[in-house]
Amino acid sequence: MILLVDDTPENLISLKNVLEKHGFEVDTANSGEEALKKVLKNSYVLIILDVQMPEMDGFEVAEVISGYSKAKETAIIFLSAANTEFRFIAKGYSSGGLDYITKPVDINILLLKIKTFYRIYEQNRKLSEIQTALLAEIEFRKEAEQKKDEFISIASHELKTPLTSVKGYIQLLERGLKKGDIDLVKSHLSKAQIQLEKLNGLIADLLDISKIESGKLKFNKQYFDFDHLLDGIIEVIHQSNPDFKIVKNGRVNAKIFGDEMRIEQVVVNFLTNAIKYSPGTGEALMNVSLKNNELYLGVKDYGIGMQPDQIKRVFEKFYRVEETSHRFQGLGIGLYISSEIIKRHGGHINVQSVYGEGSEFYFTIPVEQLSAEV
Ligand code: ADP
Repeated sequence: MILLVDDTPENLISLKNVLEKHGFEVDTANSGEEALKKVLKNSYVLIILDVQMPEMDGFEVAEVISGYSKAKETAIIFLSAANTEFRFIAKGYSSGGLDYITKPVDINILLLKIKTFYRIYEQNRKLSEIQTALLAEIEFRKEAEQKKDEFISIASHELKTPLTSVKGYIQLLERGLKKGDIDLVKSHLSKAQIQLEKLNGLIADLLDISKIESGKLKFNKQYFDFDHLLDGIIEVIHQSNPDFKIVKNGRVNAKIFGDEMRIEQVVVNFLTNAIKYSPGTGEALMNVSLKNNELYLGVKDYGIGMQPDQIKRVFEKFYRVEETSHRFQGLGIGLYISSEIIKRHGGHINVQSVYGEGSEFYFTIPVEQLSAEV
């Protein structure tokens, strides 16, 4: 839009009519003060400013406008009947004007100039859009790079811990063997085995992440007995956490179509997190149901819980709650992988959590009518 500023109403009307006839949107102001108010409220591509006006002259108006950040892209053309001396023209440019036209105005020349300013304005707008997008991209990449570096350092540490333990147990095993103490050997072997399982799990998660990135996470979907799967998982988790009780509520009584191993991975992730992030408590609930053709599986704990802003980010790749990340080991990828698995089953994953009281991580999966009775 163009703003015409002139204290003579006839000038305003005639120029406005000509410009509107040529398809420009035009606004008018009949004093410097009114022009300043309008510039603060609206955005203009171009301001055509009469120089001789009572109270505030065109140069003063231009000087004030050029200080407004809102109008930094706006071009100003001065129109002047008198003051054609070089010093006035120079003043026009130095107070923020881009052109200085003397009256009587050659309307064709003015139109050409206006079109050129519009073109420049449009180019500048596009350039600044590109610049903003580029700056955002640079910022995004910097952050991603930093996250990656942090991840590599956490991952190396996480991998090194079980590896160091295995090395230690093997040394102890050697000593046990030399002594011929079979019970000691068995105990060290099973401890080494647990650490190896941990290492295996970490490497499997890392491989899953790269498969997700490259779109190569494959699913092998078949009908399977969901209740049977859950009972098996609870038993295995109980073996490695004998002091922690998992209470299962509900049954599905149906075969579910999905990738059993991948669904198991999600449930195990929920349960191991429920145990890990609930120190000092001894119980978690597993809620399961099949209602309106929707499978629900939730794991509720009475642990540390999360703040609302943490809840929002918990399924992001590499996200770990900062304030507790030193207290609990982890890579911040388990829930990201879980959400990918559930999404690929057409379901939803989410969490309800109260800081300091506990969380219920859950997923739902739509179950086709076909899910057979067990
Ligand atoms: P990891 O546990 O290896 O860090 P996850 O992706 O499984 O990775 O979890 C991401 C983050 O979500 C955890 O670091 C933790 O801050 C938070 N979190 C997950 N489960 C729970 C839970 N049951 N209670 C509280 N916070 C949790």
